[in-house]
Amino acid sequence: MSNNLSAKERLAIDRVKMPEQDAVERSRNFLEVNLGLGEAMAVREAQRCLLCKPRPCVAGCPVGVSIPEFVGALAGGDLPEAARILQGDNALPAVCGRVCPQETQCEAQCVRGAKGQPVAIGYLERFVADWAMAHPERLAAPALPAATGKSVAVVGCGPAGLTAAGELARKGHAVTIFEALHDTGGVLRYGIPEFRLPKTIIDVEVARLVEMGVTIECNVIIGKTLTIAQLQEQFDAVFIGNGAGLPTMLGIPGENLKGVYAANEYLTRINLMGAGQTDSCATPILRGRKVAVIGAGNTAMDCVRTARRLGAERSMIVYRRGESEMPARVEEIHHAKEEGVEFVMLTSPLEILGDDKGWATALRCQKMALGEPDASGRRRPVPVEGEDFDLEVDVVINALGTRANPLLTATAPDLKLNRWGNIEADENGLTSLPGVFAGGDIIRGGATVILAMGDGKRAAAAIHSYISGGN
Ligand code: FAD
Ligand code: SF4
Repeated sequence: MSNNLSAKERLAIDRVKMPEQDAVERSRNFLEVNLGLGEAMAVREAQRCLLCKPRPCVAGCPVGVSIPEFVGALAGGDLPEAARILQGDNALPAVCGRVCPQETQCEAQCVRGAKGQPVAIGYLERFVADWAMAHPERLAAPALPAATGKSVAVVGCGPAGLTAAGELARKGHAVTIFEALHDTGGVLRYGIPEFRLPKTIIDVEVARLVEMGVTIECNVIIGKTLTIAQLQEQFDAVFIGNGAGLPTMLGIPGENLKGVYAANEYLTRINLMGAGQTDSCATPILRGRKVAVIGAGNTAMDCVRTARRLGAERSMIVYRRGESEMPARVEEIHHAKEEGVEFVMLTSPLEILGDDKGWATALRCQKMALGEPDASGRRRPVPVEGEDFDLEVDVVINALGTRANPLLTATAPDLKLNRWGNIEADENGLTSLPGVFAGGDIIRGGATVILAMGDGKRAAAAIHSYISGGN
């Protein structure tokens, strides 16, 4: 295949469209919504890339994937080379190709976006990563370095911990990940539903790290089973990537009624424990007929689309601001609408009403209007006096966000925290404890997969330097 196209020929190619499962069909199943590009489509899309020398797209990627290089290899039909470059830069490319907000990162910097549509970098990342999974025989086995004799403990098996572990294993250090849950992946597995990120993708990406020599010990809660001080004694360095999984409460009357879930509990029951997906599953879940999800981020979209798949007639987003203020990815909002999700905008919950048996029956709501911008730059929602109403519901899901769980930090009194309970770390992830580094949601609050991975990568470089005596 030729990659010797002129700029004019490249500019004449239109951006590819992602094939999708039919909206009506998929609103009742858990199969993946985006179906992925075929090889011819992917190569054609890659040929849109202008292979810019200044590489602005790379600057937009928190893990610095060599985008023009892997896209260029794909455009020339050299798939093993494209996979080698991609896997060398990103420990979880098939995950990132599915869930990263490329539209605000690499694709936002793509020069082709200035006068039209950016190169579909995310779709190409997913294509190359999936191709590599399907063709292991075409890839050279990664060369394993000699063991350095140094060891690192990683707390948490989410994107931050997995990335740090992969980078350190590549340098020849012995890495052990301690994970509180019985399975790997963090939010990737227990939060993001199968229809956006199939579990088999996480399994294969984690298995690649295990092949590189990373040890994973599940069912170990740091702060209970072992403390940070014990890890400091047993390992040369520690990386903490335990996320921020504690729900923020709604703080309104009725929050304790039956039928009211925190988003993480709702999603964990379904995604990690299999509730509602097979009749034989031991974990129960309420299949609401009328479900209200409070919030408008990615978590809220995952809940509302999951509720629809579990059979809800009305599956509603209730959000106090307007549509343009919603923090979820544009693609998720678009998919939710196609699947029949309702958006009850400029509406704030006041109270959850219940019956005499303690079951939620309605959400009392306050109509809002948008006022002046607040500290976040978004217009502040203000109540419209006298305009409250009741929304009939049987399940309410609180998707207002999460914060740091104090379980680990409570047993490490010298670990400095900020006022929200997140661990304080410098630009390399170093905390107030010697040899203890941190990254991901535990230092940022709820953020994104790729920012957590970027933290893991940066901290791994600093840990390598620390345990190698500054070399
Ligand atoms: P986590 O993924 O939270 O992983 C932390 C791990 O540490 C978990 O496995 C946890 O069990 C473990 N752990 C916690 N405490 C302990 C302990 N004491 N001892 C041992 N282990 C412990 N981001 C995107 O970029 N795109 C999306 O589409 C997107 N969708 C999302 C959907 C949902 C429902 C949610 C909740 C988040 C979403 N995010 C998305 C955000 C993204 O998933 C997180 O920012 C990211 O997973 C953070 O990675 P992490 O490694 O810091 O933490
Ligand atoms: Fe290709 Fe866009 Fe990156 Fe230029 S900015 S190298 S066109 S992906």
